[in-house]
Amino acid sequence: MFSVPSQLGRAFEIPLHTGRKRLVILGSGWAAARLAHDIDCKLFDLTVISPRNHMVFTPLLASACVGTVEARSTAVPLIELQKALRQPQNYYFNSKATSIDIRAKTVECCDLTGINFTCRYDSLAVATGSQGSTFGISGVTDYAHFLREVQHTSAIRGTLLNNWNKANIPGRSRGDRLRLLHTVVVGGGPTGVEFAGELTDFINSDLKKNDYARARDMRVTLVEANEVLGSFDVRLREYAARKLHKHGVHLIQGVVKSIGPEELTLSSGEVLPYGLCVWSTGVGPTDFTTSLPFAKSAKGRLAVDDTLRVLVHPQDADSGPSTPSEVKMTADEHSDAASKEAENLISLPDVYALGDCSANIGAPLPALAQVAEQQGKYLAKQLNEQEANRNIAVKRPPFQYRHLGSMATVGGTSAVLEGPAAKGHKSLSITGFTSWLAWRSAYLTKLGTMRNRLYVAINWLTTLMFGRDISRW
Ligand SMILES: Cc1cc2nc3c(=O)[nH]c(=O)nc-3n(C[C@H](O)[C@H](O)[C@H](O)COP(=O)(O)OP(=O)(O)OC[C@H]3O[C@@H](n4cnc5c(N)ncnc54)[C@H](O)[C@@H]3O)c2cc1C
Repeated sequence: MFSVPSQLGRAFEIPLHTGRKRLVILGSGWAAARLAHDIDCKLFDLTVISPRNHMVFTPLLASACVGTVEARSTAVPLIELQKALRQPQNYYFNSKATSIDIRAKTVECCDLTGINFTCRYDSLAVATGSQGSTFGISGVTDYAHFLREVQHTSAIRGTLLNNWNKANIPGRSRGDRLRLLHTVVVGGGPTGVEFAGELTDFINSDLKKNDYARARDMRVTLVEANEVLGSFDVRLREYAARKLHKHGVHLIQGVVKSIGPEELTLSSGEVLPYGLCVWSTGVGPTDFTTSLPFAKSAKGRLAVDDTLRVLVHPQDADSGPSTPSEVKMTADEHSDAASKEAENLISLPDVYALGDCSANIGAPLPALAQVAEQQGKYLAKQLNEQEANRNIAVKRPPFQYRHLGSMATVGGTSAVLEGPAAKGHKSLSITGFTSWLAWRSAYLTKLGTMRNRLYVAINWLTTLMFGRDISRW
C-alpha cells in the first residue's frame, strides 16, 4: 500500500490488501476531518496524512488564548472522528505531503523527522487549508503571532502572561511597562475582533481583580485597513465597533508598514510600541498548494469543477508548479475571464480539492469552516455512493453551498449574528445577548465529539464560577 524508498534505498510494500479502493486524504482540518468522518470504511481503505493528528475547532481559538476555554478543548482527535483508523488497513501518517504524481497516482510525503516516503492512492482528496497572509510586510513572521493552531494559543497566552508578570518588576521604566501591557491586534475580521473582545473581557473581569492598577495600564489596539467586520451588514459593523470601544479596545484605521521586535510602524508614520502583536489579516495559499502542478485561481487556490475535481490545463496534465509571484491576493477571484478560462480546463478523475485550499473559479466561496465542512460532507457522500454502485454510471450532482450565517463575539456577553438571506429578503441580523447565546449554542453543538463538548461546557462553567486562570508555566 505504501513504500519507503529514500531512507532504506529500496521500496517495500505493506502486504495488507483488502481489495478496496484506497482514499488518501491530505490534511486534518475542517474539510478533511468531515470527509474522514463520513467516508464509509467498509467501501474504502483510508490513509490520512497531516502534520497534526487532530482537527482544530478554530472558532474557539480566540477564547483559548485567554483561558475562557482550555487549549485542549479546541483539538478534536482524528481517531475519535473516524474510529476505523484503528484498523490495520487504514493509516494516519503524522507527515506533510510534499508532492503529487498524478500519473503514478502517488503522494510524496515527509515526516516531521525528515523521513521521506511514498503513498499510493486510488482517490485523493487535497484539503491542506491556507496560511495567514503577511502581504510581504517585514517583521510579521518574526515578531507577530498568528492564531490558527492550538499551539498558537499557548504562545499568545504565554507572551501575554509573561508581559503581565514582567510589567510590575521594580525598576522597570514606565514606558517599558506600558509597552509590555500593550497588545496590538492587526486585522479587524472575525478572528481579530473576537480576540480583542476576549482579551478585554480577561482584563476587565479577571486581571482587574488581581491588580487593578496594572490592569488599568493594559491597552488593546485593533488596527484595520478598512472597517471592522467588513463582511457583515453595516448595522452589525457599527454595533461591533461601538461595543469594542466600550470594552476598551482602541480602534485605528491604518495599514501596517513594518513590525520590529518591540514596535510596529503604520504607513501614516505612527509608531505603536507593543508587548504582544497578533496578526490576523486574511489567508493565502500555502507553499504546498502553490507547488502543485494544477490550475489555480487568481488568489492561488486550486481550481476545481463543481464536483470538486481538480482542474488542469489540457496540454499539461503534468505541468510545473506556479510561482508565488503569480498569486494576486487582491485579485477578484470571480471574473468573467476566470470563468472563461475554466471552460478550457479539464477535470482530473480521482483527484479532489476542498476547503480553503480550493476554489471553483466560476463561483469561488469564502475561506470558511462551514464551506470546508459542507464540501467534506458532500465529497464523502459522492464517493460512498459511487463505490456502492460501482457498476451503475451515475452523474454526480454539483456541490451546493448552503450559507448558515456568520457570527462573531465582540466582548462581554455580546455578539453579532447575520443569518442567511432568504430569497428576495434581507438577511436577519441580531446583536447582543441573544446572538451571544446563539454563538455559544451553535459552536457547542458543532464540536466534533461528546468529549470536546463536555470539556468546553465545563470550561465555560468554571470560567463563570471562578474566573479565568492566570497561572503561567
Ligand atoms: C481563529 C480562527 C477562527 C475562525 N472562525 C471561523 C468561524 O467562526 N466560522 C467559520 O466558518 N470559519 C472560521 N474560520 C475559518 C476556518 O477555520 C477555515 O476556513 C477552515 O479551517 C478551513 O478548513 P480546511 O479544512 O480547508 O483547512 P484547515 O482547517 O486549515 O486544515 C488544513 C489541514 O491541512 C494540514 N496540512 C497543511 N499542509 C499540509 C501538507 N503539506 N500535507 C498534509 N497536510 C497538510 C494542516 O495541518 C491541517 O490539518 C476561523 C479561522 C481561524 C484561524
